[in-house]
Amino acid sequence: MRITVLAGGVGAARFLRGLKAAAPRADITVIGNTGDDITLFGLRICPDLDTVMYTLGGGIDEAQGWGRAADTQTVLSELAAYGAEPGWFSLGDRDIATHLHRTSLLGAGMPLSEVTALLCRRWQPGVRLLPMSDDPVETHVVLAGDGQTIHFQEWWVRLHAQTPATGFVISGVERATPAPGVIEAITNADVVLLPPSNPVVSVGPILAVPGVAAAVRAKTVVGVSPIIGGAPVRGMADKCLAAIGVPTSAAAVGAHYGPDLLNGWLVAEEDAGADRDPGLAGVAVRAVPLLMSDPQAAAAIASAALNLARELTP
Ligand code: GDP
Ligand code: CA
Repeated sequence: MRITVLAGGVGAARFLRGLKAAAPRADITVIGNTGDDITLFGLRICPDLDTVMYTLGGGIDEAQGWGRAADTQTVLSELAAYGAEPGWFSLGDRDIATHLHRTSLLGAGMPLSEVTALLCRRWQPGVRLLPMSDDPVETHVVLAGDGQTIHFQEWWVRLHAQTPATGFVISGVERATPAPGVIEAITNADVVLLPPSNPVVSVGPILAVPGVAAAVRAKTVVGVSPIIGGAPVRGMADKCLAAIGVPTSAAAVGAHYGPDLLNGWLVAEEDAGADRDPGLAGVAVRAVPLLMSDPQAAAAIASAALNLARELTP
């Protein structure tokens, strides 16, 4: 079975670990969001690709959900001693090695998709991990009031998404082309899965790459709600949804993806009423436990998504 997943960071990575356990023989391609990417201290940092790579490769800081296990911050504290800016982004020493290696390979002219494949040779994530595009794309946040735009990371990490936003600009996306293999992985998939990632700033930028949404719409697509009982499970997805005028509910997020894209939508048991939402007309809604409290729970969610996909496959 060929499965293609559009992935953000922590929510996607935990779901993918469950998917590998639920479908050990499947051929899984992961298309990762690069809208969160940023250059700091001269280093190109790809948070979502790295979260997937470290989680599936066994190198993640489990409690934090991102970054390397048992990491230290010697380099960061040395930078702080120089007063180097910015002071608000956390980077561990082990993690910095990844960014140094990636930045030097990119500097030598290697496209991000090849760099990612090279980094994955060490981590052996057990999936094919592709960036959505080799072209630089950056999610910027439009702040309420003066309409100033700032990089997504500055809003998320420095401002903790507390400054109201009125929208997002996915800078460069209209000129971006899907990375090699992206459209093929979607077209050749038996099923496309949307993990419980942030619909606005994780899955949204991937779908905004020209050609991707149309390819996805042609497939059997099952999504998993990142919203349970009217709140994100972790993080501040509610702030992103508010910025684009979508209520923080499983039904509204499903309706935001819409019946054109989604065939099936998994919601938590407390959100079972979502199937009556007019915005989900024509979408098969199923209610199952959606808390990824451990890898077994994540595997059960992935199984439910695959079962629903089988049921819906023509
Ligand atoms: P990020 O890039 O690291 O923010 O990660 P993602 O975009 O992949 O995932 C973030 C989303 O995962 C948030 O909106 C969370 O609500 C969702 N999430 C995290 N843990 C769980 C969980 O256990 N169950 C569900 N259903 N969603 C989760
Ligand atoms: Ca992210």
